[in-house]
Amino acid sequence: MRVGVPKEIKNHEYRVGLVPGSVREYVQNGHDVLVETGAGAGIKASDADYQAAGAKIAPDAKTVFAQSDMIVKVKEPQPTEWAQLREGQILYTYLHLAPDPTQARGLIDSGVTAVAYETVTDPHGGLPLLAPMSEVAGRLSIQAAAYALTAHQGGRGLLMGGVPGVLPAKVLVIGGGVVGTHAARMAVGLGADVTILDRSQRRLAEVDELFGGRAKTRYSTFEALDEETDVADVVVGAVLIPGASAPKLVTREMLKGMKEGSVLVDVAIDQGGCFETSKATTHQDPTYVVDDVIHYCVANMPGAVPLTSSHALNNATLTYGLMLANKGTDALKESQYLREGLNVHRGKVTYKAVAEALNTAF
Ligand code: NAD
Repeated sequence: MRVGVPKEIKNHEYRVGLVPGSVREYVQNGHDVLVETGAGAGIKASDADYQAAGAKIAPDAKTVFAQSDMIVKVKEPQPTEWAQLREGQILYTYLHLAPDPTQARGLIDSGVTAVAYETVTDPHGGLPLLAPMSEVAGRLSIQAAAYALTAHQGGRGLLMGGVPGVLPAKVLVIGGGVVGTHAARMAVGLGADVTILDRSQRRLAEVDELFGGRAKTRYSTFEALDEETDVADVVVGAVLIPGASAPKLVTREMLKGMKEGSVLVDVAIDQGGCFETSKATTHQDPTYVVDDVIHYCVANMPGAVPLTSSHALNNATLTYGLMLANKGTDALKESQYLREGLNVHRGKVTYKAVAEALNTAF
């Protein structure tokens, strides 16, 4: 099969569908890989790096789309991209179709077979191709908070881990899932005083076990939120209710009780945010202040570290990607987990929740 990798064209997207190491795996499986010139620039991988891994370089995206049987990307196709897709071609990328009827229509009209990273599952019931970005965002949230806590950023002027004789910062993590545990891991690593809230008793038990006493756990109620936000220097919002908007857990009222120069990082902003005062920001201008509390609400946090993010994404996508390349659409018949990723096939929406959201035939 010929596998094509166009350069990402969404605004400020620096990741790439295949890193050179993954190209080598596809080539070793007997496939041709065609990479658009400059596709790896955002991760400092040159055309020569891709050629050394066995890829051929295409002069433009048009050539990649026209000559490939399967397209591997990161972000959902943009209008100029979906116009170049066709029946019989496989698209393997993040799609997030439910809130995006225009893109869905573009994919339906193209006839392409579109497999969405975000709905591929695994035998444990998880979303393995979504998890690596949550890991990145969780870890990054503490770096962002540590920076925002410094005085020249308007923060409390506090060092995350303190020093001998001076107490560390108090970090509250709301939601002990993938984002939350990775945030807590970074905060604990820096020596902060960490508390994790969750609504799932089972998850709290797992997190307690995981941290072996180095992070405290507390059941998430409004009382707990009220008390914990009052004493926190940093609050990380990391909740998820699958398929729903994030609940507004930290209210404007609670903000009034928080310390001046404390920091809120709302990782759940891509689901609408879990703080009442959150609004999405960008890496160019990531923070704003409400009631003397710094808010960091960047919706695409992994975009700040495309090198790490591209490799983490490739680690997760490679196995299923090779299955698709090796067996074509038969791979979808053989693996129910990969089949869960199928969102659009030959002009039809094939994923129930997406069809319902778009009010279209399934
Ligand atoms: P997850 O499902 O692994 O974890 C969510 C956790 O929230 C679960 O443990 C759940 O029990 C808990 N929860 C639900 N309601 C709660 C409540 N009321 N109080 C406390 N905990 C509650 O999800 P995840 O992968 O960790 O993702 C978390 C959020 O981060 C999602 O909204 C996801 O889309 C978002 N995210 C954002 C970025 C970004 O760049 N901003 C990147 C990756 C993920």
